[in-house]
Amino acid sequence: MSVLVFIDHSDDHIKKSSFEALTYGSKLAEQLGTTVEGIVLGSVKDDLAALGKYGVKKIHHVNNDALTNLDAQAYTNAIAQAVQSTGATVVVFSNNVNGKAVAPRLSAKLKAGLVSGAVGLPDTSNGFVVKKGVFSGKAFAKIAISTTVKIIAIQPNSYKTISGEGTAEVAALDVTVDAPKVKVTAINKVVGEVPLSEAELVVSGGRGLKGPENWGMLEEMAKLLGAATACSRAVADVHWRPHHEHVGQTGLAIAPNLYIAIGISGAIQHLAGVNRSKTIVVINKDPEAPFFKAADYGIVGDAFEVVPKMNDAIRKLKGL
Ligand SMILES: Cc1cc2nc3c(=O)[nH]c(=O)nc-3n(C[C@H](O)[C@H](O)[C@H](O)COP(=O)(O)OP(=O)(O)OC[C@H]3O[C@@H](n4cnc5c(N)ncnc54)[C@H](O)[C@@H]3O)c2cc1C
Repeated sequence: MSVLVFIDHSDDHIKKSSFEALTYGSKLAEQLGTTVEGIVLGSVKDDLAALGKYGVKKIHHVNNDALTNLDAQAYTNAIAQAVQSTGATVVVFSNNVNGKAVAPRLSAKLKAGLVSGAVGLPDTSNGFVVKKGVFSGKAFAKIAISTTVKIIAIQPNSYKTISGEGTAEVAALDVTVDAPKVKVTAINKVVGEVPLSEAELVVSGGRGLKGPENWGMLEEMAKLLGAATACSRAVADVHWRPHHEHVGQTGLAIAPNLYIAIGISGAIQHLAGVNRSKTIVVINKDPEAPFFKAADYGIVGDAFEVVPKMNDAIRKLKGL
């Protein structure tokens, strides 16, 4: 019996969400009195042994170029083989884009119970009960998994990453990789920006900014803070900003340490995607804007006056 953590990577580097999944997996293994191992599919430049600092004892590396980019079917087959060869009884994913593509497929293939969007360690005092957020984070559900193999996909930013000392043993794992049924012909990535799903700090704008030509001050703030930019759906729908920046119920759900909302009303569908942020700052000229109810800090004022002043203050603070 052991815990197996799927270690996700992109552009040759391990994703931040995998550090969280590894910490979660190692704490879970401690709780179950077992060991935690990890699995990496495809080639990656980072030092895998160094992942031992998150508590993982052994990394199984399937160093097959066919697996370097996500192919959900091939990943599912490879992980299923790893589950069998390692005897893992709990498989941990991050509930990020790749986790959402693979965990349900693995669940179907292994007939293993899955809880996606878990927000804490399972209660193992009487069975195996996992807590997850439901109704856009408005309530919690506790779900018991009764199958032998259990799968948990942990909600990004819901478990604190802890790193210490330690080195993991890295062992090559041989799995059969079937010929792909789909072929990725091109990957076009937005470069030079902080990816929104991984960002610790986010500066977000809404219809209150009046038009796409006014986003310069937001982009400046994001640059000064090292933040990602986001927007409301209303803004993405009218093409002021690209859809990959749209957060909310029908967009990305994020949980950064700091979310700065500028000229956004705070509709329930918007809040659904950002209300797990650690600190929310709202800038809105309407003191009755609903977003203020969810804010930790609020500034009632015109964004066109407030944001340039904030940028000046950040520049001063940073000595720029
Ligand atoms: C099924 C469904 C799903 C949806 N999913 C999403 C979703 O995922 N994400 C999402 O965002 N929305 C979603 N929506 C839309 C949502 O209901 C709102 O319409 C949308 O979030 C409003 O965007 P907004 O706050 O940018 O615009 P508005 O509601 O127009 O608000 C603009 C705000 O800017 C303020 N403002 C104006 N001028 C200034 C200024 N100069 N300085 C400071 N503040 C100013 C105003 O006081 C106002 O509060 C969904 C709706 C439905 C029905």
